[in-house]
Amino acid sequence: MATIEHLDVLIVGAGISGIGTAYYLQTRCPQKRFTLLESREAIGGTWDLFQYPGVRSDSDMHTLGYSFRPWQDAKVIADGPSILQYIRETAAVFGIDQQIRFNHRVRRATWSSADAQWTVEAVRGPDQEIVYFTCNFLCMCTGYYDYDQGYTPVWPGVEQFTGRIVHPQQWPEELDYTGKQVVVIGSGATAVTLVPAMAEQAAHVTMLQRSPTYIVSRPSRVDGTRGIHRVLPGKLAYRLARWQSILFGIYFYNLTRRRPEATKQTLLRLVRMQLGDDYDLETHFAPAYNPWDQRLCLAPDGDFFAAIKAGKVSIITDHIETFTEKGIRLLSGNELAADIVVTATGLTMKIMSGVQLVVDDVPVDLAKTLIYKGTMYRDIPNLASALGYVNASWTLKCELIAQHICRLLNYMDRHAYTQCTPRLWDHSIAEEPMMGLTSGYMQRARDTMPRQSTRNPWKMHQNYLRDLLSLRFSSVHDGTMEFTRRTDHALQKVSAGKDMEEETTKRRH
Ligand SMILES: Cc1cc2nc3c(=O)[nH]c(=O)nc-3n(C[C@H](O)[C@H](O)[C@H](O)COP(=O)(O)OP(=O)(O)OC[C@H]3O[C@@H](n4cnc5c(N)ncnc54)[C@H](O)[C@@H]3O)c2cc1C
Repeated sequence: MATIEHLDVLIVGAGISGIGTAYYLQTRCPQKRFTLLESREAIGGTWDLFQYPGVRSDSDMHTLGYSFRPWQDAKVIADGPSILQYIRETAAVFGIDQQIRFNHRVRRATWSSADAQWTVEAVRGPDQEIVYFTCNFLCMCTGYYDYDQGYTPVWPGVEQFTGRIVHPQQWPEELDYTGKQVVVIGSGATAVTLVPAMAEQAAHVTMLQRSPTYIVSRPSRVDGTRGIHRVLPGKLAYRLARWQSILFGIYFYNLTRRRPEATKQTLLRLVRMQLGDDYDLETHFAPAYNPWDQRLCLAPDGDFFAAIKAGKVSIITDHIETFTEKGIRLLSGNELAADIVVTATGLTMKIMSGVQLVVDDVPVDLAKTLIYKGTMYRDIPNLASALGYVNASWTLKCELIAQHICRLLNYMDRHAYTQCTPRLWDHSIAEEPMMGLTSGYMQRARDTMPRQSTRNPWKMHQNYLRDLLSLRFSSVHDGTMEFTRRTDHALQKVSAGKDMEEETTKRRH
């Protein structure tokens, strides 16, 4: 067998969180040797994969961008290519691009307490050559969804349809929709982005939704000549704008939780102002759920509403009975003619991209684990995953996680610990699903996802201020995290032998 390369830290994934984690590692743990394994041929993850028309952020780049590299553009609701360029440039500026091994898809990671290390198995390149790495700490920056395919429901009659069906996750570069009748199925962020963008060239775009979503308009740019941007130097203005965005996000989210009906009415009033009194708001814009039970959708500068008002876009709220040769027949009996149908029906969630984890010979069932501080997992040593917020920018949380990992590694080095494992000592705590949103993609994945508890440190707060305390300021030695040395396990293994394996198995189930 070829020599196995050893790293102190292995980062899986070179998207926005992988590059961010690498930045913190090299600045706060300069003694650590690390590398990034990336299954694709490119940096950027989400922002490289998604190529559909109009692809953009739906949170502002003051918070989706890194705190250590201010977003300079006035356009803060940014388009996909600009975000991709920003991630690539960040990787280049800090030399992180030199640390990435492209075309390495990790598929299995095996932890040995006796050796205090992970053995990571990856397949490399078109020939699917199997390669191994060992590392002391594993950072899973693999995003939250299946890269291979998005989610498409099964509809009757699809085979009869003579037009083209496209999923936004696999957008065909050559697709020409100029002058075409387009139906976009879905009402989530992707549909709300795609619809006005396609309407610029298509003959007409119909958004077909089963039920409505909250859609809010906000400016896509900040005016650099006004407010804090006028009086403060660039970096300081960025910091303040970032905090402004964080605090407003927390305030608004809490408002929706405390006063759902009032917020709902305000959101609908704002849509009414955009579309006028004659528009059937109740049918097409008034969801049955409360704001932030599912993600709110954003219409930058009201683009979505403007396209409706211009007559380029219409919304149909109905159910599909069947596809026909020429389009879609609805349960109401109406028919929609379509040259192109875009299935903006969502992602397939996949935590840690389906990598099989094994701890001391026992395969891990992620659905049975509890998440610790929103990043590590019960009884899984030396592993953290970068999972961002569902109600705020992803990067905010991922940066806190990266900073926490660095504190943890430095603490372990100071005390010569080789293993850190979150342990559940109080078995009476209540468990609940890891993600609280009722969105379809989360509901579909519910049974495969790790769980959280109602109590710290096993609770996912979805709140930056709480996480700031928990991940950045509180002691890493919190009574839940068990720190051990390799010698402890080696000795234990010799003396306890088989008993220890049985005990580990028991603790995990
Ligand atoms: C269209 C779209 C718009 C979005 N807009 C926003 C927004 O405005 N604000 C926001 O906060 N969030 C948004 N999100 C969520 C978004 O995914 C995150 O903000 C962020 O980009 C995720 O970054 P990441 O690096 O954690 O994961 P990803 O971007 O998914 O990157 C993961 C990387 O890991 C690699 N990888 C995965 N599995 C393996 C493996 N087994 N081996 C090796 N490499 C692997 C992938 O190839 C990829 O490069 C959006 C998501 C989508 C799909």
